[in-house]
Amino acid sequence: MTAQLIDGKTMAARLLEELKRRIQRRIEKGARVPCLAVVLVGTDPASTIYVRKKRETCESLGMRSLAHNLPADTAQDALLALIDTLNADPGVDGILVQLPLPEHLDSTQVIERIDPAKDVDGFHPYNIGRLAQRIPTLRPCTPKGVMTMLGTLGVELKGRHAVVVGASNIVGRPMALELLLAGCTVTVCHRFTRNLADLVGDAEILVAAAGKPGLIKGEWIRQGAIVVDVGINRMESGKICGDVEFEPARDRASWITPVPGGVGPMTVAMLMENTLDALERREHGA
Ligand code: NAD
Repeated sequence: MTAQLIDGKTMAARLLEELKRRIQRRIEKGARVPCLAVVLVGTDPASTIYVRKKRETCESLGMRSLAHNLPADTAQDALLALIDTLNADPGVDGILVQLPLPEHLDSTQVIERIDPAKDVDGFHPYNIGRLAQRIPTLRPCTPKGVMTMLGTLGVELKGRHAVVVGASNIVGRPMALELLLAGCTVTVCHRFTRNLADLVGDAEILVAAAGKPGLIKGEWIRQGAIVVDVGINRMESGKICGDVEFEPARDRASWITPVPGGVGPMTVAMLMENTLDALERREHGA
């Protein structure tokens, strides 16, 4: 079997076109366009690239983007004060603080300070709690992007065994909650998991999000599995690869995401959707 590709790049481009039309309709009605504030602390090269991409995408949709580039030695209090200002600004719909923050900063306190109604990354405990209780509001972008991709395959998710490799707050855990909400039987693996190969081998849906290149061997993949590779690993050659050995996995899976061009573009599209949704929810008093 050779898996079909789940083309996140094309899917994201289509979603962004739809969002652009939604924003255009707002402009025609004289309504306000959404505004996303993007906060970057320091000059980490990967973060700088991600932030630039988010800002450019905002602008390509006709959304406003506010850039707050703070020096690497910004104090916690100064960052919290900026978040308070953005929370209080009625013209700001989404607040994104690019992670990871420099080590001297407490990212938990920063995330908890963001108004949950403007938490377009969906990382605030309120939004994660809503997802855990099956009443999602603003959903974390990467897992939401994965669910959107899975939704296009025409495959019944209910009752499937889904295995998530990775248990971080921003990808693995909310991913598991999303799959549970979709009716999957979910196994979550992490760095202390002992029988990773066996668990992966039983996955009808596999989501790899460990950030370890080649961690998932192609021969582990169950025949016909759906394989979603969230990993983004930059190799010394400059090449980007995922956590799954792509070619051998492709020979066994039914569907597989490429890296790059899979989950990454969907994450950005979901961020844009969350920002427009955040604005509309606030307009409707939700
Ligand atoms: P993280 O380092 O915070 O978490 C990694 C998780 O993987 C941890 O739970 C850890 O226990 C687990 N893990 C590590 N080694 C393991 C092993 N040998 N076996 C099983 N589990 C293991 O990383 P993160 O922020 O969750 O990101 C994970 C990956 O996803 C990274 O490559 C990151 O770049 C990528 N990412 C991609 C997108 C996207 O849009 N495609 C978005 C966010 C993160």
